[in-house]
Amino acid sequence: MKRVFSSHDPMLAGYLRAVLEEHGIGCIVKNEYLLGGAGELPPTECWPELWVVEDGDEARARAIVEEARPAEAAGERWRCPGCGEWIEPEFGACWRCAGGSPDVPSAGPA
Ligand SMILES: [Zn+2]
Repeated sequence: MKRVFSSHDPMLAGYLRAVLEEHGIGCIVKNEYLLGGAGELPPTECWPELWVVEDGDEARARAIVEEARPAEAAGERWRCPGCGEWIEPEFGACWRCAGGSPDVPSAGPA
């Protein structure tokens, strides 16, 4: 079993699983239903994860996932100026401390 993808979006994980299955790659989604009851876990610990069953399929699966994931999810990750967390490009604010992205002008050092 190899993890090839994780996302905050269970719909996307499910979609990519279907794409891999179309290519004949056996895979499962972990954490698909955990999002609501995450409790104290850090958000990334309970994101849906896409795993391939056969380790030998990993490289091919990664290539397919890269190809199939929506274009809007592609882009540069950015680092939160508030807490240093790496944030996926589709987020405009830090999920950890709610800090803004570096694209937003700041007041500068005090
Ligand atoms: Zn932050």
